[in-house]
Amino acid sequence: MEFSQNIADLSPSATMAVSALARRLRAEGKDVINLSAGEPDFDTPGWISDAAVRGLREGGTRYTPPAGLPELREAAAESLARLAPGGERSFRSDEIVVSCGAKHSLFNACFSLFGPGDEVLVAAPYWTSYPEIVKLARAAPVFVKGPEARDFRLAPDDLEARLTPRTKGLILCSPGNPTGAVYSADELRAVAEWAKARSVWLVSDEIYRSIYFGRGGPNRAPSILDLPAGSLGPAVLVDGLSKAFAMTGWRIGFTWSSAAVASRMAALQSHTTSNPATPSQFAALEALRSPERAERDIGEMRKAFLRRRDLAVSLMEQHLPGLSYVRPEGAFYLFFRIDGTLGAEVTTSEAWCQRVLEESGVAVVPGSAFGDDRYVRLSFATSDEMLSEAMRRMGAVVSAVRS
Ligand code: PMP
Ligand code: GLU
Repeated sequence: MEFSQNIADLSPSATMAVSALARRLRAEGKDVINLSAGEPDFDTPGWISDAAVRGLREGGTRYTPPAGLPELREAAAESLARLAPGGERSFRSDEIVVSCGAKHSLFNACFSLFGPGDEVLVAAPYWTSYPEIVKLARAAPVFVKGPEARDFRLAPDDLEARLTPRTKGLILCSPGNPTGAVYSADELRAVAEWAKARSVWLVSDEIYRSIYFGRGGPNRAPSILDLPAGSLGPAVLVDGLSKAFAMTGWRIGFTWSSAAVASRMAALQSHTTSNPATPSQFAALEALRSPERAERDIGEMRKAFLRRRDLAVSLMEQHLPGLSYVRPEGAFYLFFRIDGTLGAEVTTSEAWCQRVLEESGVAVVPGSAFGDDRYVRLSFATSDEMLSEAMRRMGAVVSAVRS
């Protein structure tokens, strides 16, 4: 049977596939440590879950407007205004669209802004879904990688080298998945000003903003909202609750854009998902309108992720000495180089992950899924014990080949 052109080039999500494989092997009784899943290992704070239950009991079981409950759009706008206090910007609820996860927000943005004939610059290494989402919009992803020595962060020169008359957008992610690299405010500003000067849409995925390990500043990574209004051209900010609030299963993300773009995305959503699940919207509403409680819980999770980042880095030095890696400044991934470490016959990151899974029961994601076959990604969103054991086992596989 022939499938439609719409999905002709579509690959399944590698991150989801490795997680599913690890879960299956574990269900079969295998001793598997799953470091593939990109999700916090915490439960959603109880007060957020309670709000969903309360909402349900009070009749919140029906459709909402496609772009989300008006009070949730308002709360999301206010949450962004709190990030950029006293700024030149105001945030209005008609600039917010609430969707079924940030992945859906990205889909809405790409589908609404890009189409056949357009090229979209994708900062690489990239989160595995960006190129597929761009292709679903029938646009072409164009990968652009900053220097490895700069943890792959982009500067205007890198972008200029890949600019063509068809370039319509740029997708940037900071803190980055899979690298954990974080753009400084100055670096963000340079990239944003380049995009503005070239009339390129900037899609800024800031879903990991609050999982940030920089010290001495605000408890979050720099955002496009920190930029002077004159530095930011046409843009869509992608945000969500999955990571910051440990709410991956609730499926709530949102965008901030011009009201014109928001109304197109809302129209698109009105024909696809209608609205994000109503009980999840009640949960998100509580999360976003209780900043003090939220910061207390997010702060605890941030502390745990910071401790694990430090642990992952020191375990790396201990068990996989000599391998280079990006030191994560945010998110919860460690992206490290494995090329050449398992002998001449293991030539791809996929083969490396396969061999490590078979021999040690540790599941990590091949770098090929993120646009760099020399690397693999592990998630340190797991317990200290699991992380230590997994790194020990991976180290044993590599040193068995070395010796
Ligand atoms: N962006 C990035 C960079 C991610 O890692 C994820 C993880 N799933 C998402 C967006 C989507 O998040 P969600 O759909 O769970 O809100
Ligand atoms: N974003 C996470 C990851 O990269 C979750 C899985 C997914 O949605 O891709 O692993």
